[in-house]
Amino acid sequence: MQIELLPAVEATLARLRNRMLIGGEWVAASDGKTQDVINPADGGIIAVVPSAGADDVERAVGAARRAFEDDKWSKARPADRERLLLRLADLLEANAQEFAQLETLDNGKPIMLSSRVDVPGSVEYLRYIAGWATKLEGATVDVSFPRPRQGGEYFAYTRREPVGVVAAIIPWNYPLMMAVWKLGPALATGCTVILKPASETPMTALRLAELVSEAGYPPGVVNVITGRGSSVGPLLSRHPGVDKIAFTGSTEVGRDVGHSAIDRMARVSLELGGKSPVVVFDDANLKAAIPGAASAIFANQGQACTAGSRLYVQRSIFEEVVGGVAARAAKMTIGPGLAEDTQMGPLVSQRQADTVCRYIQEGVQSGATILTGGNRLDRPGFYVEPTMLTGIAQSSTVVQEEIFGPVLVALPFDDLDEVATLANDSGYGLAASIWSSDLSRVHRLTPRIKAGTVWVNCHNMLDPALPFGGFKLSGMGREMGRAVLDLYTETKSVCMLV
Ligand code: NAP
Ligand code: MG
Repeated sequence: MQIELLPAVEATLARLRNRMLIGGEWVAASDGKTQDVINPADGGIIAVVPSAGADDVERAVGAARRAFEDDKWSKARPADRERLLLRLADLLEANAQEFAQLETLDNGKPIMLSSRVDVPGSVEYLRYIAGWATKLEGATVDVSFPRPRQGGEYFAYTRREPVGVVAAIIPWNYPLMMAVWKLGPALATGCTVILKPASETPMTALRLAELVSEAGYPPGVVNVITGRGSSVGPLLSRHPGVDKIAFTGSTEVGRDVGHSAIDRMARVSLELGGKSPVVVFDDANLKAAIPGAASAIFANQGQACTAGSRLYVQRSIFEEVVGGVAARAAKMTIGPGLAEDTQMGPLVSQRQADTVCRYIQEGVQSGATILTGGNRLDRPGFYVEPTMLTGIAQSSTVVQEEIFGPVLVALPFDDLDEVATLANDSGYGLAASIWSSDLSRVHRLTPRIKAGTVWVNCHNMLDPALPFGGFKLSGMGREMGRAVLDLYTETKSVCMLV
């Protein structure tokens, strides 16, 4: 049954029509251009937002720069930065239901997911990162210079300083969470921000911007601009007024952003794609491994950078595991995200559904067998069945490239050495999971896997305290945990003769 939209959601959609937040003011694009926001569940238009241009980027960077240099923000005490973030977390929690519905309406994901993961996970992250605002520390350093003849001593220490104006560019798969993963550490460390949500899913970032103002942040500390990444993105990443770019998205775009940043030595962190292996050994507890492998790929319609999209199963249990995962996939309830029993919603866009279907066809043309799924649903909206492919070579496109949809490829392996090679035979290195009851196997394989995160007997467990990021093409830098502070601060060494 489809749940009814809260009046608050309708009111938000009306109130935020064609408005974005620049320098504390809610404005349209200076040239009046707009873009539509589509509901993936039926293809209808749910909102109209500004399509920012060069003038708007100029205004936003100017506002963020002024706010950064301004006494009010640069002199904010750590305890005040902590308190503001905690207030923002409280406001988000108080509006949790509205945010969950808005996210589902905009992105298509099941309401179960947005209300149990996206929104509470974002609240929790804000609270976690708030604590770091008061725990930024340098060190005193004993230096070994020769004693000065005229007497005196050297005293040296380091301090952490905010990197400055941050441009945050985020994707559409976890829109609110990605916004919070960038805003949180930037605000905790004393930076100011221009946030550019994905064109497919700008609504929760805009609503969050309202809460930022309500929480009491000075104008210009957070600016949210909507618009086409292909134009706004380069304007931000090449802008001399932007000190750091925090990007999450595709490897292709990330590479461009990285080049623009390095050209002018702006700081940059990149969280990019993945093609994560799920390795199931013959001693694994299959009661956990089979549902685990299914949700590793099919959660969020497979639109997760950490999706377990390559399933490697030891040969003696291959049929059993693959059959079990396929059976679960076939039973998933597909429907609009706002229906309470939906386990798999639509993909985010027509374009994404087309891309995913093209990959499935390509897999079939290169000899794959479809174990389950393979089709688009014949109804409005962007629905693709959970799909599983077998009988395919490791070198094939569907095994090598990130599909970013509900498509799982399954291959058998014989021993640990072979699966270590197969798991690493990918340009990406974001995550992996190992399913086994044999600790020695787990410990032998874990260090050999070239990935930023390795899960054992679980998958997709992200915690605010645990660093997250990629090896290889999956990016640069670690978000979350203490590690994220390095991305938003500069270290200054101070040496004085006293
Ligand atoms: P995308 O095209 O790279 O878009 C990501 C963001 O970049 C969007 O806000 C987009 O704006 C903007 N953008 C587009 N062109 C740009 C340019 N030339 N310069 C600067 N910014 C630009 O990726 P997507 O298709 O939206 O998202 C899916 C990808 O993100 C997947 O590859 C996935 O693995 C990756 N991802 C990685 C992580 C992670 O944590 N590692 C998390 C989530 C997703 P528009 O929307 O306006 O185009
Ligand atoms: Mg895009």
